[in-house]
Amino acid sequence: MTRLSAFAFAAALAAAAAAPVALLAQDVSVQSIKPGRAPDQPIDQAYTAKIHEYTTEPFFLSPLVDYLPASKTVPTPAAVLGDIAGSPTKLPYSTEVYQYMRMLAKATPRVKVFSIGHTEEGREMIAVAVGSEELMAKLDQNKAMLAKLGDPRTIGMNDEVAAKLASEATPVYYITGTIHSTESGAPTALMELAYRLAVDESPYVKNIRDHLITLITPIVEVDGRDREVDLFNWHMKHPTEVAPDLIYWGHYVRHDNNRDAMGMTLDLTNNVLNTYTDWHAQVLHDLHESEPFLYDNTIGDGPYNAWLDPLLTNEWQMIGWNNVQEMTRYGMPGVYAHGDFDTWSPGYLMFIAATHNGISRLYETFGNGGTAETLDRTIPLSETERTWYKQNPPLAHVKWSLRNNNNYEETGLLVSLEYFANNRRLFLQNFYEKSKRSIAKARTEGPAAYILPSNDPRLGSQADLLHVLQKQRVEISRATAPFSVSVPVHRAARGGRNPASAVASDAPAATTETRQFPAGSYIIRMDQPYSRIADALLDYQYWSPNDPQKNPYDDTGWTFPEGFNVQAIRVTDTTVLHVPVENVTGVIRAPGGVHGSGSVYAINHNADNAIVTLRYALRNADMQSAEQPFDADGHHFNRGSLVIRGASAGTLDSLGKVLGLEVYALGAAPSVAMHPARAARVALMHTWTNTQTEGWWRQAFDLLGIPYDYVSTHDVEQTPDLKAKYDVIVFAPGGGNPESIVEGMPMWRNPIPWKNSPETPNIGKWAQTDDVRPGLGWDGLEKLQSFVKNGGVLITAGNTTDFAIQFGIANGVSANQPKRGEVVGTLLRTKLVDETSPIVYGVQDNLAVYSADGASFGVSNVRGGRGGGGRGFGGGGGATRATGRGTADDPDVVQGRPALGTEFDEPARPTSQPWQATPLTDDQLRNALNVIPPAQRPRVPLRFSDQRDLLVSGLLDGGNDIAQRPAVVDAPYDKGHVVLFALDPIYRGETIGSYFMVFNTLMNFDHLDAGRTLDPR
Ligand SMILES: [Zn+2]
Repeated sequence: MTRLSAFAFAAALAAAAAAPVALLAQDVSVQSIKPGRAPDQPIDQAYTAKIHEYTTEPFFLSPLVDYLPASKTVPTPAAVLGDIAGSPTKLPYSTEVYQYMRMLAKATPRVKVFSIGHTEEGREMIAVAVGSEELMAKLDQNKAMLAKLGDPRTIGMNDEVAAKLASEATPVYYITGTIHSTESGAPTALMELAYRLAVDESPYVKNIRDHLITLITPIVEVDGRDREVDLFNWHMKHPTEVAPDLIYWGHYVRHDNNRDAMGMTLDLTNNVLNTYTDWHAQVLHDLHESEPFLYDNTIGDGPYNAWLDPLLTNEWQMIGWNNVQEMTRYGMPGVYAHGDFDTWSPGYLMFIAATHNGISRLYETFGNGGTAETLDRTIPLSETERTWYKQNPPLAHVKWSLRNNNNYEETGLLVSLEYFANNRRLFLQNFYEKSKRSIAKARTEGPAAYILPSNDPRLGSQADLLHVLQKQRVEISRATAPFSVSVPVHRAARGGRNPASAVASDAPAATTETRQFPAGSYIIRMDQPYSRIADALLDYQYWSPNDPQKNPYDDTGWTFPEGFNVQAIRVTDTTVLHVPVENVTGVIRAPGGVHGSGSVYAINHNADNAIVTLRYALRNADMQSAEQPFDADGHHFNRGSLVIRGASAGTLDSLGKVLGLEVYALGAAPSVAMHPARAARVALMHTWTNTQTEGWWRQAFDLLGIPYDYVSTHDVEQTPDLKAKYDVIVFAPGGGNPESIVEGMPMWRNPIPWKNSPETPNIGKWAQTDDVRPGLGWDGLEKLQSFVKNGGVLITAGNTTDFAIQFGIANGVSANQPKRGEVVGTLLRTKLVDETSPIVYGVQDNLAVYSADGASFGVSNVRGGRGGGGRGFGGGGGATRATGRGTADDPDVVQGRPALGTEFDEPARPTSQPWQATPLTDDQLRNALNVIPPAQRPRVPLRFSDQRDLLVSGLLDGGNDIAQRPAVVDAPYDKGHVVLFALDPIYRGETIGSYFMVFNTLMNFDHLDAGRTLDPR
């Protein structure tokens, strides 16, 4: 047994022990209902024959799906598909899937279709409800009962009332398909599932229909689905050619669309969350296709998310192991649970249920990488080995069809629906209990509330954070008068922006102090049904380096107040629940508008993102950045604050109110050095290799109203004078190593288009090429270098910093990568090094930043140098002398030579810190070819904190080789600059606090040297 097995084995035993009790509570005995067709209901012979034809082995079928019942009035999926679900030649577009669902709704009162919103590109999303006529006739009535169970405050937390409701209400089981566009089987499986649920008169299916409302969103990522079908059709028409990769899924992100359930930035996430909560559903079951043959990964592996009710994690075990049990009973190989997916991050779409008192579930079935064709597949040994949780493992070599995949998806779902229908009272009771315990949480395990003070210096970002909570359906209240509560006091030496209260601490015993909060402070009370998502987002995460899980599946830390750089004080003092408050509804905005009168206006720079929106909204206004802090008319203005002329008070007032920006009219301009804060002309450059992570940047630019040209490496290569068009080129993280960015893909075989065409109508016109294979090219690289030489600014982050370093446009900068697993999606603390750098205007010290893997930089005054800090970076015990006689601090003695004076020792060098370049030696300066001239040396505005303060949230194993190193570097290159971020400043809508370092670079692109002190030599 592995270290994991004991835990999960015990859990399985617990689930097995719990199950009979649950079954006894029901009026329907599971054992009494056998799967299989109703003897007196005819089957659709032709359809059934096709099921058998397209299924590659009899054991890839189950008695639940090895036939299709016939109906005289209800059309089968073949009516739209022209073939059965799982056909090897057909993937339906979203419009076809919706057309069929609406045909079903027209043909039977057992089906209803609801529009649930649209995608970024305007495509519709739907939810299809299926249940008996009786259930469908009283959907609203049932919804009202579920709403009461979901908010026990409405029934006075009365357990008897709840028990009655739980015995009368019908649960809602919500299934979502195809969030990942290259996992393409779910829509046809869900079309057929809806038909079966509506038509099949077998006792098994009738039992589900009579006792459960099944809700289905057949396609979550609709934009990506339609593009994927385009590519499949292209492939079928050009079978011998290499088909394009699905370079864009949704409009912004690819695989990360399933990491948005915290930040709630994508339309698909909001539409699913709204549907889930509006229906008061009990389950959200998301379908994926990447593991053979069915992995119920709901149970997953540790560590489990620490904010969930254990009632839920037990439900995972019950439902999941039942799934394995029943499908094993049908003889279907390769069905398993547990696996190695950890259940820590709440960013997955399914987690909307987990964090809202429901049950999250996820299947991985086996797909053929986006095609509908039947393929010979060889499955790696790691997936076919028999383990304790995979007693009937997947087969090593199979002919695999889309129909097989549909059989597994439908069988698994039907087994789950049946189990849920039979145990509906238990699950509704649990739904009530979990909701009730979420409310009780304020007074039991705590915290009682989080307080977001109304005197936070970053009220715009505070409003952004509150907006996320509103999208999560968290209730927000606001103190109507000043109040004080007891708050914990942590060891102040930990640093942090708000060391008195908001910083994680390993202090043995936190004491408390009474803290005053002004009127208008926001209070997120935990005595509400959706307290868990608020707690999970606002709290700190600690992932132990000793955790047996060595492969975190996703980010280990996400603490939103740190990522947004706003205060949120965790309060366990329950007196906070008695503070007089008003409920906050509607759009939350920071206060804004013009104050006073005068012809010059000033806006304090606090790195709120609204500032860059204003800059671009008033492109023609004269805005200046103050190079020093100043005070005027009784207000303090940080370094970088904007001084505005040429805009009317009326315009500034209305914009200030909408954006949440306070604008102060001044009698006279302040007498500090200033330079123009410009609305730079921006290009976002992407490769054709990978667009995953740059999409978050593009989304942020769109949401904040920053105009840009979206250009590919090809466009750059074909633009003769980049500087004539752009001031700043943003090369956000996008995958690909430096060589592949330049060289592209192999040029053998056919050109591979990514282009809107009659054959591929859903490929966007906003990013096209006739051939994705070429890279930036050497000519393109030279043009990019010329752009910077001529005064342009190139912004890089993550893998694109390697590109800048490797191709010599980031003089004196080197990359430093810690060992794998030292940092995995962690928030790390930083320190300001040079606050006069415009890149950090308005940025407070101790900012938390997102680090995917712990990357940092070194800086040097010499070309090709590795950076300063001498031996033993970050305080580690480095060597100080060579091997020889004596102790570590003794001088060595050479035998047979007279003892000499210290004038023959190496002269003492000036010391330098890890974020600094090592001072030059006389030897280096004597022949200074490689010595970088002072004005061209890298400048470090921001570094990582000392090791003991480095961790903010998540996993940090060591950190000695990250601590104190440069985190952001401004590398001059002739007349321009390359700005390098070791962190990802714009990530998943979770790092609002670090966005402005990018926007400062835009607004100060031609004055990045402001405030700089040059080395004397
Ligand atoms: Zn997936």
